[in-house]
Amino acid sequence: MEQRRMDYHLHTAHSMDGRQTMDELCQSMVEKGVQEICLTEHIEPGHPQEGIDVPPIWDLWWNEIEAIRKKYPTLVIRAGVEIGDNPLLRPSIQAMLDAQPFDFRLLSLHLVNGVDCYDKEAYFGGKTRAQAYRAYAEAKAESVCAWTDFDSVAHIGYVAKFSAYTGDERPLRYQDAPDAFDTICKRIIQLDKCLEINTSTYGAMGAPLPEISIIKRYIELGGTCFTFGSDSHDTGRDYADVERAKEWVKSLGGKYQASFRQRKKFLYRI
Ligand SMILES: [Zn+2]
Ligand SMILES: [Zn+2]
Repeated sequence: MEQRRMDYHLHTAHSMDGRQTMDELCQSMVEKGVQEICLTEHIEPGHPQEGIDVPPIWDLWWNEIEAIRKKYPTLVIRAGVEIGDNPLLRPSIQAMLDAQPFDFRLLSLHLVNGVDCYDKEAYFGGKTRAQAYRAYAEAKAESVCAWTDFDSVAHIGYVAKFSAYTGDERPLRYQDAPDAFDTICKRIIQLDKCLEINTSTYGAMGAPLPEISIIKRYIELGGTCFTFGSDSHDTGRDYADVERAKEWVKSLGGKYQASFRQRKKFLYRI
């Protein structure tokens, strides 16, 4: 089984917060020797902040993907989506997903009780650390249990990414909500899905998401499949820390890195 240089969490200017064109992204990935990328543009139905609930214009996106595949024939370019789950709008999210022939669906959660965890004041205000972190973990477990039609679970521990807490209090760990994390890990394994290793927190936290104790628990329960993603929104972070994260997960006992074509999973050695 081969290894492969892949990045399965990427945003372009078709995402409302993306700051790189598809061309810039592909150029930068080819320069880094990356063999395969998957675009995972945002959909954020019902997001309370103005300008966030703006999905890509899919026809334009697909047309550009077709053109860019011709321009970069050696780079495998997959078409995916980052599903910003919202429990109140699941039927319409499902319909939006089913209308596009994505290769890959990345199940993500930014909103907890209608508030994005990156909104420090609104999310952490009036809560203890235990309350704020547990509410996120429980919402994430509910989300993963509500969905079956996805491929990988994104950035578990997102609540820590823009946390009001620092130092040792910052990471969301297994011990913060063992029951919720067991539910999530078992669900991923039972459905034969993947756990995402998201490298976007290396800069701020010195480690990817999820925190090591959650990755270890996933492996202990029998989890073998991972996707790796930089979650890059600009060329400065494309593929950042992915090789480093792979080495680390491998040292913890992680086995496979997955790629997807038309929702079919292909495994590579980490
Ligand atoms: Zn996200
Ligand atoms: Zn993302």
